[in-house]
Amino acid sequence: MAMMIAADLISAIEKYAPLALKEEHDPTGFQIGRRDKVVKRVLVTLDVRPEVVQEAIDQNIDFIFAHHPVMFRPARNLDLAIPQNQMYADLIRHDITVYAAHTNLDKTQGGMNDWLAKALQLTDVEPFNVTSYVPMAKLVTFVPVSHEKTVREALNRAGAGCIGDYTDCSFSSTGTGRFTPDALATPFIGQKNQAEAVTEVKLEVTFPQSQAPQMIAAMLAAHPYQEPVYDLISLANQQQPIGIGRIGQAATPMTVRDYAQFVCETFDVAGLRLISNTPDKVVKRVAIVGGDGGKFYPAAIQAHADVYITGDVYYHTGHDMLADGLSVIDPGHHIESIVKTEMSRIFEQWAQENDWQVEIIKSWQKTDPFTFIFNAK
Ligand SMILES: [Zn+2]
Repeated sequence: MAMMIAADLISAIEKYAPLALKEEHDPTGFQIGRRDKVVKRVLVTLDVRPEVVQEAIDQNIDFIFAHHPVMFRPARNLDLAIPQNQMYADLIRHDITVYAAHTNLDKTQGGMNDWLAKALQLTDVEPFNVTSYVPMAKLVTFVPVSHEKTVREALNRAGAGCIGDYTDCSFSSTGTGRFTPDALATPFIGQKNQAEAVTEVKLEVTFPQSQAPQMIAAMLAAHPYQEPVYDLISLANQQQPIGIGRIGQAATPMTVRDYAQFVCETFDVAGLRLISNTPDKVVKRVAIVGGDGGKFYPAAIQAHADVYITGDVYYHTGHDMLADGLSVIDPGHHIESIVKTEMSRIFEQWAQENDWQVEIIKSWQKTDPFTFIFNAK
């Protein structure tokens, strides 16, 4: 079992949900504490609130992972009469490190909006409101025929060659490699000071540019040559779209009103707000942005959504949605508490892969500030 420090977990999180994906002005990332803290107990929460911090203190937590950043509004003083400041003080006094992954986790593949889409059983899910693409790179290397398979498999194991629904993609062609080892060389093939010409395989794989260091390391470790030759090429491909929301097909077509009921049950909410001029229209295509996504509704229309699910819809935005003929279901912001289950599952997996001696705990606190009161009359 290996000791894990906060920096180890943070680097794994930032590989999963790169900071480059975040929306401008989102204070996502490292929040409070220290990166060299030994972490044995992790608490996973949607929000960091005083009751969550108390839970962390009671449970001897070293590291809090939250979806929502703690310091959304910067502190202007550290007057401990202010509950928010007292919370920071409690975190620091108990040496608890806090980290948040917010809009980068919303956008990343396998992140917040994919979990919500999965909960709704949507199929053919893809991003909508696409604002950029994952920068891709290609690694080309030249290996002797005898080692082509070893190097190719090492690269695929490191994650190279994932294209859409396909894994282990690569291309090889055969040609002639030429070199002359000098007096100091210890060549795998050939003799010192003698020109060589050998049959080599040119092997090509693609991957997200951010993974280049690990791909080069995997290739070098498997390559038999003393000085492997390789080209690392930046691609202009627009292969992996990045968007904050997800859109997909409803598992069973049903009316807008029935779909609203289905959303209620799926996310276990006491009630929700429906904005629709056409409650009897059949829903086939569903778009979702967890949290405050009212501003993205024109993108949902553009993506041909029959219904758009998001939280925190403003009164006047609701009017605009109706005028534009879009049906919108607002189940509230707290449906994002799905992060507790999903991120815990991912942390458990990383702990196993890295042999980390760490316990992952889901926060029991319900941080939804709203309670529904139904009119009794
Ligand atoms: Zn949110």
